[in-house]
Amino acid sequence: MIDSWCEYLKRARLGLLVCFSLLISCGEPPLHKAEFYVFGTLVEVSLSGVEESRADQAFSLLQERFQAMHRDWHAWEPGKLANINERFARGMAAEADAELVQLLGFSQKAEILTGGRFNPAIGKLIGLWGFHTSDFPVTGPSPSAVDIAALVALHPSSLDIEIRAGQLHSSNRAVQLDFGAIAKGFAVDIAREALAGLGVHDAIVNAGGDLRAFGSRGTRPWRVAIRNPLGGALGVLEINQDEAVFTSGNYERYRETENHDRFPHILDPRTGWPARQVMSATVVANEGWLADAAATALVVAGLSEWNEVTDAMELDLVLIVDEAGQIHATPAMLDRLLLSETQKPAITLRRQ
Ligand code: ADP
Ligand code: MG
Repeated sequence: MIDSWCEYLKRARLGLLVCFSLLISCGEPPLHKAEFYVFGTLVEVSLSGVEESRADQAFSLLQERFQAMHRDWHAWEPGKLANINERFARGMAAEADAELVQLLGFSQKAEILTGGRFNPAIGKLIGLWGFHTSDFPVTGPSPSAVDIAALVALHPSSLDIEIRAGQLHSSNRAVQLDFGAIAKGFAVDIAREALAGLGVHDAIVNAGGDLRAFGSRGTRPWRVAIRNPLGGALGVLEINQDEAVFTSGNYERYRETENHDRFPHILDPRTGWPARQVMSATVVANEGWLADAAATALVVAGLSEWNEVTDAMELDLVLIVDEAGQIHATPAMLDRLLLSETQKPAITLRRQ
């Protein structure tokens, strides 16, 4: 008891909001854990195969890096991104640091690959819907169809942005960057690099169920649960060396009108209206930014277009839960998912 309190105080001094546990299970090396709150969610880091002092060093570094990313990429609070958006709206060039330029580059790539279903330049639309808030559900009537159509007609796109002499130039004043659908993905990629730099090769960085896991947990692979939008887990996945697992859903954050109509926070940039055909999309990929952007794009694609996005992004591992709760998956995902045998036949497989 005294030991664990000493541990608590020691780590509290490192500034971790909620900390750690040191778990030793039979025959397995110790697992070090830390938690902190950023990106509107709890980030849980689990490290295996390292000394405690190295784990502490890693936790401090990650917390610092995550907090900086949270601040710098925030879509509506004052900060670097808000400054850039303000300058774009006034037709001016904007400074950006190397990491933000990299995030923009991945975003542009994702916008192209998803056929514009993922579009990080629709910040004005997201704001119009009232989704620039941490307070969900948003209540009240939806914005007017005229206002929505007016913003869509301005065709904001991340491809309107060019990088010249280290500065960002937008040819479209309607561009307002919102990295909400890719930032967590890129953040776990950065975390993976930072951990590798410290000699940590076995870890899970889990940002509220969206994660990157690499290495192993001692002698066995990391195991992660795939979220079920109806509650609990749909199944369990064993991580193959180094993978990102991201789920986007339209069931947690939404606007609710007086007559209980729900308008989810993922918008179809082509229409300006929320995507409502699927409840959730889960993607497993080698990089976080790709898995994150893809999961959002698949929610937008819905049942009629998800195969198109899966092909264009060359995704092997996709799982969709439609509005009726029916599960659709790629064959590779079904092979990998550890499900109860009664669940498997109920899954509609994608034809390849
Ligand atoms: P979640 O993890 O909450 O399911 P996502 O990764 O799907 O989130 O990101 C949703 C957020 O991305 C929204 O809150 C909004 O800020 C932004 N967003 C909404 N629709 C799109 C879209 N089509 N393309 C890019 N970003 C979007
Ligand atoms: Mg996403």
